[in-house]
Amino acid sequence: MAAFLRCVTCQESLDLDALAYQCRCGSLLEVAYDSDQWVDFGREKIDNRRTTQNRLDQSGVWRFREGLGAFNDSSIVSLPEGNTPIFFSESLAHYAGLIDLKFKHEGYNPSGSFKDRGMSVAISQAKKLGITTVGCASTGNTSASLAAFAAHAGLKSVVFLPAGKVSLSKIAQAVGYGAQCVAIKGDFDDAMKMVQEIAREGLLYLVNSINPFRLEGQKTIIWEMLQDLNWDPPDWIVVPGGNLGNTSAFGKALREAYAMGWIANLPRLATIQAAGASPFYKSYKDGFASLKPEKAETIATAVRIGNPVNFIKARAEISATRGVVESVTDAEIMTAKRAIDRAGIGCEPSSACSLAGAKKLRDQGIIKKTERVVAVLTGHMLKDTEAILADGVASKILEVEADSSKVKGLLR
Ligand SMILES: *Cc1c(COP(=O)(O)O)cnc(C)c1O
Ligand SMILES: [Zn+2]
Repeated sequence: MAAFLRCVTCQESLDLDALAYQCRCGSLLEVAYDSDQWVDFGREKIDNRRTTQNRLDQSGVWRFREGLGAFNDSSIVSLPEGNTPIFFSESLAHYAGLIDLKFKHEGYNPSGSFKDRGMSVAISQAKKLGITTVGCASTGNTSASLAAFAAHAGLKSVVFLPAGKVSLSKIAQAVGYGAQCVAIKGDFDDAMKMVQEIAREGLLYLVNSINPFRLEGQKTIIWEMLQDLNWDPPDWIVVPGGNLGNTSAFGKALREAYAMGWIANLPRLATIQAAGASPFYKSYKDGFASLKPEKAETIATAVRIGNPVNFIKARAEISATRGVVESVTDAEIMTAKRAIDRAGIGCEPSSACSLAGAKKLRDQGIIKKTERVVAVLTGHMLKDTEAILADGVASKILEVEADSSKVKGLLR
């Protein structure tokens, strides 16, 4: 057996295809590998795949397939995802007080967020297991992504959303792709509790980031970033944190890349939370002793999460990468978002946590001016148009009668 499931706390192992999201001991499961799985999984092979016409090679996820569980090509569901751009902007580097600040923009995925990378692997696993119905709780992007991949795979999907707290474009995607949408009169954490209970009773296959296959897919954000940089890793990787799936996946990806000899040193992770939804930040400040769930409130709805399910994994990855956790206010988030939008790059509010956080860590001297930084932008600008139009500073739409002299007068 080359790949299997393993508990991150008690180390008990399970069959890779066991239908379980948690260990008997209550802790989280991860996909683990025997070293023989990766004998023939090197940089050269991955680099060569970028030049072929093979369906799987052309996916920014499945190019790394040896490191993502164990699949027959026929069960792989791909749209294809990944292959996201890296941006540099003089003005944004200046904004953060850095010289070398790049952005890996995960909004350039098929449904507009990084969730597609994890979803591609989780839905492929569902197909491999012969599942017919998949589901999730979501602040919006997971449901849009799930709906797309389930539709593509011919599976039924059910998504649970906090009523009134999800941007319209994300709901529209879920509806359009054909998911059954259920609005829960509560917050994300209530929806999460509910869907876990339903999944335990076997009514659906859960593809939230508690599902270890989601995190395997999200590792490829880092692997592809390292490949983009010619395997010369940055000093820091900065990422927003909500349910902490990315923080967990990024640390695992970096450790595995290092163990395989793809990179010579390990970048440090910086996870940035919105101040109104920052239980991980508070725990970090408290030496990671425990996590106190909180009532979350922030304009960054994608990270409006008060009880992150991946806390145990994320804590270990922050330690393993000598990482840090920071928090930023809604005002800092929106100022950073405006700057990203004005640089022609654009992102949704939650994504701007990474620029706001990079700036804050630079201001505090934790990130040095000359250090190389990659900030991950998690979602596309069109994901939350309400936030743009409600922003009094950004939106100044002039209204005028259809009269050319009046229009000219206005522009003068
Ligand atoms: C899901 C999501 C996040 C939060 O990521 P986690 O892995 O849950 O920490 C951040 N930004 C956007 C746009 C998201 O959709
Ligand atoms: Zn266990």
